[in-house]
Amino acid sequence: MKGLSHLAVGLAWTSCLPGAVDAAGRGHPGFFALAAVCALLPDTLDFRFARFLHTHHVEIVPDPLNPDPAVVSAALADAADRAAEQGRAVTVRLHPVRVSHDLWRRYDVIFDPAGRRIGVRLGDIVDPGGATAGPAPRFEGWAPCKARLRLEYRASTAVSGFGDAMFAMEPAADGAVVPVFLPWHRRFSHSVAAAAGVTALAGTFAGAIGAAAAGGAFALHILLDQAGFLGSNLFWPFSRTRVQGLQCVRSDSPLGNFSAVWLSCAVIFFNLAAASGRVPPLRTLRWTSAAAGLPLLAAVITNSLLARKKNRRTLAAAAPKFY
Ligand SMILES: [Zn+2]
Repeated sequence: MKGLSHLAVGLAWTSCLPGAVDAAGRGHPGFFALAAVCALLPDTLDFRFARFLHTHHVEIVPDPLNPDPAVVSAALADAADRAAEQGRAVTVRLHPVRVSHDLWRRYDVIFDPAGRRIGVRLGDIVDPGGATAGPAPRFEGWAPCKARLRLEYRASTAVSGFGDAMFAMEPAADGAVVPVFLPWHRRFSHSVAAAAGVTALAGTFAGAIGAAAAGGAFALHILLDQAGFLGSNLFWPFSRTRVQGLQCVRSDSPLGNFSAVWLSCAVIFFNLAAASGRVPPLRTLRWTSAAAGLPLLAAVITNSLLARKKNRRTLAAAAPKFY
């Protein structure tokens, strides 16, 4: 999920701790600040440190003026074959295609285990947020691979915007090769051991309330991520692999992130109103439920209507035309 969602959930959790709310009411927002830091800490550790420490064996920099998808897919297929032959992970780093100071050419990496091939499809010009800024000619290139591929993540992954992408082609015990997306992400930083460490550290310096605020915010970050597709290495250091996500919501889903932030705001509102003691808790709960539920319902309905409209448009565009 996005950072804002993790932040909102961490603050909502802390608002459930009467000691933290009481301290904030007396002018000491330290527990909330601690929870905010810990809610963002797992991804901060990954994106600011772990990604730079992870080594790679192959680096692909597509020509921004003339990107060739066949060359990129051939390099990925070669990495998968080498991983199968040598019995060790081969990590590939893919650079985005930058076409101007703030525009990129999106491309998708597609794994086709049934066809034993890897493809790269060039897409539109996109802005830093990934939104389409202009159309571009579509090309794709496929490369066969001898290795048997097994997917544990999405079959298609986009490379666009600021960051580079990385796949570790990891040989599995059954002889297949698993393309592991962002192998440095959601490892030790998203584990039960790390959550326990943060809780213990916060408890040492900030007491029981600090431990609950920091540990809870950190653990809820991991829990929220687990609702997605990528999963986390929950049992580090006893395991090297990520536990597959529940696949309920994509981490970049606008509706999923909006729901997390909105519900967190409702929880914070309820807890602050209850702590003030001026409104009967039942009435506060009624108002909170309405305030949280109605906009969410409207968002879900709008989202499904838009998705249906988009689907109809896609089907119409795909239908054969007779002249
Ligand atoms: Zn995360």
